[in-house]
Amino acid sequence: MSISNRYRDIQERIALAAKKSGREGDAIKIVAVSKFVEWGKIQEALQAGVKILGESRAQELVQKYGKPQEALPPDVAIHFIGNLQRNKVRTVLRYVSSIHSVDRDDLILEIIKECKKNEKRMSVFFELNTAEDTKAGYRNLDDLSRGVELALKHDELEVTGLMTMAANVNDDEQKRLSFRSLAACRELLQRRFPNLNNLELSMGMSNDFEIAVEEGATIVRIGSLLFEGIQT
Ligand SMILES: *Cc1c(COP(=O)(O)O)cnc(C)c1O
Repeated sequence: MSISNRYRDIQERIALAAKKSGREGDAIKIVAVSKFVEWGKIQEALQAGVKILGESRAQELVQKYGKPQEALPPDVAIHFIGNLQRNKVRTVLRYVSSIHSVDRDDLILEIIKECKKNEKRMSVFFELNTAEDTKAGYRNLDDLSRGVELALKHDELEVTGLMTMAANVNDDEQKRLSFRSLAACRELLQRRFPNLNNLELSMGMSNDFEIAVEEGATIVRIGSLLFEGIQT
């Protein structure tokens, strides 16, 4: 199967899962996770209709998108989804329009600092740790909530949504609980901060995106299934 066939297949599966949560498939955005993916395959994905690429390493951003001949079309965005070190923020901001992996306050402060310097705004997602086998993410709602409060004081940041990764287990119900707790976190935050509404939920990967969509995902991040035809 080609990348474009797989993309259509994924869209259909998303639409079916969306129906179960009373939504239309096109309400859900797809981040095509192109980390470690070569330029030719990225081109194929863009031809198939991909509008958002997901990358997770600063160095790879420079290598892949730093060359003028490999510039992306203006309607294609890159979202940063990986663990982000403070000293990489400056580089990352040059390439991406959104960061899904904000997981600590010192990172927020660094993003604000670099945005100020470059007169930029940045869309950010706050990552909640909902699975014990991963290290990334705020550990609990209160810590995350304080991060959101800090971000809301600064015009440089647009608080776009929340992100999580489910445990990498073969237990669908456990994954579902991860996604459900992110959705619950959104409700609590929107009650706590009245000027936050319609927060996005970035959740679901190749092996669990349908469960995530059933639980309310508005953005799924899919790499291996789209580019390799496998679920890792
Ligand atoms: C790699 C990655 C994905 C995509 O994972 P696949 O299983 O290849 O779909 C999604 N989110 C994050 C944060 C990732 O690092």
